[in-house]
Amino acid sequence: MLPKFEAMIGRRLKGEPVAYITGSREFYGVEFKVTKDVLVPRPETELLVDLALERIPENSPFRVLDLGTGSGVVGISIARHRKRATVTAVDKSPSALAVAKQNGEKLENIRFVESDWFAALQGEKFDLILSNPPYIAEGDEHLANLKFEPALALTSGRDGLDAIRSILEAAPSHLEPGGWLLFEHGYNQGETCRELLSKNFVEAGSWKDLSGIERVSGGRLTSG
Ligand code: GLN
Repeated sequence: MLPKFEAMIGRRLKGEPVAYITGSREFYGVEFKVTKDVLVPRPETELLVDLALERIPENSPFRVLDLGTGSGVVGISIARHRKRATVTAVDKSPSALAVAKQNGEKLENIRFVESDWFAALQGEKFDLILSNPPYIAEGDEHLANLKFEPALALTSGRDGLDAIRSILEAAPSHLEPGGWLLFEHGYNQGETCRELLSKNFVEAGSWKDLSGIERVSGGRLTSG
């Protein structure tokens, strides 16, 4: 027992996140399995879940897509709180998807699909799309503190916005008219995200996390 504990302390002293050492992290009131194949769930991402739940009816069918689900926390929290909704959770990493599947195994209203964003979803439409994509710029100084987490889940091009631009480009053909797109982004990306949204989306806005930082942006697909 003691050598095991000492090994855990040793890992922590080297800077490894506690969630990787214990193998779990709480999110939206539930413990989730976490491995080094997925991003450690962050409390600020609960804002994305709150905003989505406000837009999903409790008592009627609704199709939700979670892009880049990682450990599955976002899609699974939606599926737990909206039993009439059906959630599709995709990730391009098979090892991340394996973790998400374990986390969601008790739920009947979520399916997990290996897909690079929308690639495996040709012809499918949803009522709401949400994502916590990678959004940190390559070479950003914050990455020094995140070296234990998968780069695939963190960085996205020179300005960090490559994934968000890809999602915004393809989302209109996978959303019902009037459907919402909501996504998390970095502390200084809100204004750019609203600009990008304004091309195809109305009611484009940003919402602040508990630290007062614009953390989620989104809008509704134009109807016509
Ligand atoms: N919020 C994370 C961080 O800055 C990054 C998560 C992400 O890229 N989606 O530590």
